[in-house]
Amino acid sequence: MPTITRSRYEVDLHIHSTCSDGSFTPREIVELARAKGLKAIAIADHDTVEGVAEAVAAGAERSIEVVPAVELSIKNEPEKDFVELHLLGYFIDHQDEELNDILNRIVQARIEQKIRQIKVLQDDGIDVSVEEVFSVARGVPGRPHIAEVVMRRNPGRFASKEELFAEYLTVGGKAYTKRSFSLTLAEAIQVLVEAGGVPVLAHPGAYNKVNDVEAMIRRAQEIGLQGLEIAYTYNKNRPHYGLAPAEMQTLLARFEALADELDLVKTGGSDFHGEGKDIELGEMGMNYVEFQELKIRSSFTATLDQS
Ligand code: AMP
Ligand code: ZN
Ligand code: FE
Ligand code: FE
Repeated sequence: MPTITRSRYEVDLHIHSTCSDGSFTPREIVELARAKGLKAIAIADHDTVEGVAEAVAAGAERSIEVVPAVELSIKNEPEKDFVELHLLGYFIDHQDEELNDILNRIVQARIEQKIRQIKVLQDDGIDVSVEEVFSVARGVPGRPHIAEVVMRRNPGRFASKEELFAEYLTVGGKAYTKRSFSLTLAEAIQVLVEAGGVPVLAHPGAYNKVNDVEAMIRRAQEIGLQGLEIAYTYNKNRPHYGLAPAEMQTLLARFEALADELDLVKTGGSDFHGEGKDIELGEMGMNYVEFQELKIRSSFTATLDQS
């Protein structure tokens, strides 16, 4: 068993479980968080809250605070081309009926989209089946599940997963198809707020296809965005793989300044997916004092929602 080192951060609010495209169950993540000395975590799975109850229960047993969360995939409407944005929702009521209805619609659209993507790959002579992809995906299916099966079934066809993504799966790739149902940013903010949550824009530095990210964030703040994810593993994710520490600092400082100017709460997280991605739990995140600010913001949101 590998040695587990203590995490640099006390709080990691961006984690994926087997309920979307992560490789550890919510309970395993809580155990790992405890071993690494984290005080609070959020499982923010793509378009699902299926892992929240298990994580909250495990957290209560292990004295780890678990924030009910979700990471919604949404479309950025004002842009001419389809650009996907990710919106985190923290301290949501994960049993909220409207939220769950909408998540179910998004998941149905995802399933249908993945089937169409697999069909395009098959038509191009690539060995991959819907059944296998959906059995690899233990929860909501995502492109990484398709990639896993394609890489395993077609040795030598792609030099790396990155190459497969670039040719087929990335937005604009040969097998990329839009989802038949997506929320706009305004709709997503509203759904989260109505479920008592704090809407936070995930990894603002990653939207290289948005013409003016800063203007987009200003508009979002006017329609109810309440936070920005600052500390994030940009150097381990697209489109900034290998970003040097100095450039990383510049990127984080830029969004930190914008968050301060717009009175947005600042969050942080690793985007940990478990095995298969070179990111550790708690590699990025926030300290406990910063986490308190988010809590204060969430109690304020809860008051707003009742009025
Ligand atoms: P989906 O949820 O199906 O839209 O897939 C989203 C996931 O695919 C993200 O969480 C990333 O982990 C992964 N992904 C998207 N684009 C790429 C890419 N170009 N290279 C590697 N992984 C990617
Ligand atoms: Zn993911
Ligand atoms: Fe994301
Ligand atoms: Fe994520």
